[in-house]
Amino acid sequence: MRQFFFKKKFDQYFLKDKNIAQKIVKCLSLQNYNTIVEIGPGLGILTRYLLNSCKKVFLIEIDEKLIFFLKNHFSISNKYIINKNFLKWNPEEIHLNNFALIGNFPYSISSKILFHIIKYHQYIPECIGMFQKEVAERLISKKNKKNYGILSVLIQTFYDIKYLFTVKKNVFIPIPNVKSAVISLKRKKIICNKDLLLKCVKMAFNQRRKILKNSLKNFKNITNFLDIPFLNKRAEQLSVKEFFQLTQEIEIRK
Ligand code: SAH
Repeated sequence: MRQFFFKKKFDQYFLKDKNIAQKIVKCLSLQNYNTIVEIGPGLGILTRYLLNSCKKVFLIEIDEKLIFFLKNHFSISNKYIINKNFLKWNPEEIHLNNFALIGNFPYSISSKILFHIIKYHQYIPECIGMFQKEVAERLISKKNKKNYGILSVLIQTFYDIKYLFTVKKNVFIPIPNVKSAVISLKRKKIICNKDLLLKCVKMAFNQRRKILKNSLKNFKNITNFLDIPFLNKRAEQLSVKEFFQLTQEIEIRK
């Protein structure tokens, strides 16, 4: 692991503790999946353990140099090693429609990664991810808490989320400024108009001090649903379930 490998612009903080790497991989219900996708494999500390349990492991890595390294160090077909920005990756391109996702995620784009997971959630039944601790706490947050926000609602609508464990800074190289945490997402059986929920949650939280009647007033048909009881509350006072119900109501009355 030479110094030149670390690229700040790609959030390269590599895990150096094999026990933690193994612990993270064990959190995935590996036996349930034929296909696993790892985001940002880096030097492959998680990959090694994934390959012990699953034959089809796709690696999506943005850094060309690391792609070169991975191709040299793992005897898997090149078609599984994809040099791409995960945010631009569409699983349909390679006909993937059921896979588990894992990664020690690049922290500066963790929100974008989560939105991307939500976008393709119909293909992703499970995800184990390492995030900045503060982001993990936001994701599990509940109504009336300060850190309850758009992603708490969206992720909790589609997934059962568990905060698994906290990870200290000193197990990474270089040492990051923040603590990390591993979370698990398991998809819920839920049918919901995703675009509508997204629009509603974003609008509500973008003006989080206002009651929903006001923050949602740019909704085309707001007059059709002004009588919904939740509309007198502010975004942060609505539970995940209530946001879901609100979306259902808006959908019915369109
Ligand atoms: N999994 C490794 C590396 C984690 S560091 C470990 O635990 O040691 C984050 C990794 O994500 C780096 O390898 C970085 O190059 C990669 N990365 C950063 N942005 C990315 C993106 N947009 N798409 C795919 N990989 C990305």
